[in-house]
Amino acid sequence: SVAGTQSLASTARADGVRYLLATFTTLTGKPCSKLVPVSAADELEGEGCGFAGYAAGGLGQVPADPDVVAVPDRSSYTPLPFVRPGLAMVHCDPHVEGVPYAFAPRVLLRRQIAAAADLGLSLSVGAEVEYFLVKRGLDGRLVTADASDDADQPCYDTRGVTRMYDHLAAVSDVMESLGWGPYASDHEDGNGQFEQNFHYADALTTADRVTTLRYVIQMLAEQRGMIATYMPKPFTDRTGSGMHLHLSLWGEDGPRFPADEDPRGLGLSRTGYGFTAGLLAHAPAMQAVIAPTVNSYKRTGATSTASGATWAPRAATYGGNDRTHLVRVPDPHRVELRAGDGAASSHLATAVALGAGLDGVRRDLDPGAPGERPADAPLLPRTLLDAVHAFEADDVVTGVLDAVDPGAGVSRYYAELKREEFYSWHARVTDWEVDRYLTAV
Ligand code: GLU
Ligand code: MG
Ligand code: MG
Repeated sequence: SVAGTQSLASTARADGVRYLLATFTTLTGKPCSKLVPVSAADELEGEGCGFAGYAAGGLGQVPADPDVVAVPDRSSYTPLPFVRPGLAMVHCDPHVEGVPYAFAPRVLLRRQIAAAADLGLSLSVGAEVEYFLVKRGLDGRLVTADASDDADQPCYDTRGVTRMYDHLAAVSDVMESLGWGPYASDHEDGNGQFEQNFHYADALTTADRVTTLRYVIQMLAEQRGMIATYMPKPFTDRTGSGMHLHLSLWGEDGPRFPADEDPRGLGLSRTGYGFTAGLLAHAPAMQAVIAPTVNSYKRTGATSTASGATWAPRAATYGGNDRTHLVRVPDPHRVELRAGDGAASSHLATAVALGAGLDGVRRDLDPGAPGERPADAPLLPRTLLDAVHAFEADDVVTGVLDAVDPGAGVSRYYAELKREEFYSWHARVTDWEVDRYLTAV
C-alpha cells in the first residue's frame, strides 16, 4: 500500500484510513503532527498544513513569524491501524513562505543527501532503536515495567524477552506489515531495556522510519500501561540507551566501502576510511546533535557508572568488530557510529553523520590504524556544554545546520538552545549536592 503515483487521498481511502498524521521533527527531536481527515487529504497534498512554529518550539521562530507549512511526502505514507484503526502517518517537509524551511531537520537531511549525490554517492542507513519499558512506582520513581525483570546479566535474557512478548511482537508485526524487514527483538544490557531491529534502507527512509517506530513503540507500550522511553540514561546504575547508526555509501556501480585489498585488514576502501576519518574528526562537535541532552552525557563519557557492558564510547577511536570504539566496522560494507542516542531527531542525526563522513571522503582523510587508542584521540565531550563548545568550533558540523540558508542562523540558534538547556539543569539543587555538601565542612 505504499503510495506511488496515486494521490495520498486515494491511497489512504483504499487502505480504509480515515485520518492522517502529518508529521515532522523539530531541531530538538520533537515529533509534531496534525491529525488530518482523509476528506482534507487533497488539500493537505496541495497546500500543506500550517503550524505555529513558535508554539511547536525548536524551530527558530518568534510569535509573529509566518506559519511553518508541513508539505507531505507521499512516498513516506505509513498506515498504522494497530496504533488506532483508520490511522496513518505521512512525513512532511516543512516550508515557510513557499520555500523549504532552513530550520527543519528533514529539509537539512535532504540537503546532505543532495551533497552526496553531487559526488555520485548515496547513503544507506540502518538504525538500532534501544529503549526502556518502565512504569512509575507509588512514590513516583521509575521502575521496570516487568517487576520480575532483575537478572544479574540481563543482556539477551530469555525470560525477560518472553514476558514482554505481547508488546515486542506487536511492534515487530507493525514493521512486518509495513515491509520494513524486522529481524530481531532482544533484551538489552539493562533490566527493562530492549532493542528492536529492522532492515536498512536509504537515509531519508530510515530517518522517517525511526521517527515512526519511536511513536509506534510508545503508543503500543501505553496500550499495555507502560512507558517506553528513549531517554539516554534513565537509571544511574544501568546501561543507557543508544541509537547506533550503520552507515554505508553506494555509487551507481554498487557499494563503495568494500575494497579488494586492504593492508589495514578491515576490508575497507579509501572511501570507507575517508568516511570513517570524517566521523572521527567531527565526533566531538557531532555529539551536540546526536547526543543532544544533559542526560546524554551520563550515558557516554568517563563518568558513566553503568553496570554490565555499556559500550557507549568515550573517545574518537575506531576498530573492527569491537563495540568499545566510537566507530565499529563489523564488516566491509558498513561502519557503525555508536555515539548517538534516541533523544536526537533521527533526521538531524543522520544529516550531521552524513556531513561529517562526506567531509572525510572529500578531503581524503586518514583515520590511522584501527583498534589503537592513540593518546591524542579526542575524548568525547563530557557534558552538553562541552559539546556545544566543540560544535561551535566545527565549521563542517555547524555547516550541516546552516546548509539550506547560511544567513538564517540555524546553528547559532541550536547552540543557544542547548546552552540554555545545560544552564537550566545546572541551576537546580540536586540530591547529590545535598548529600555531598550539607555537612561537608
Ligand atoms: N546500550 C549501549 C549504548 O548505550 C549499546 C549496547 C549495544 O552495543 O547494543 O550505546
Ligand atoms: Mg544494542
Ligand atoms: Mg549496535
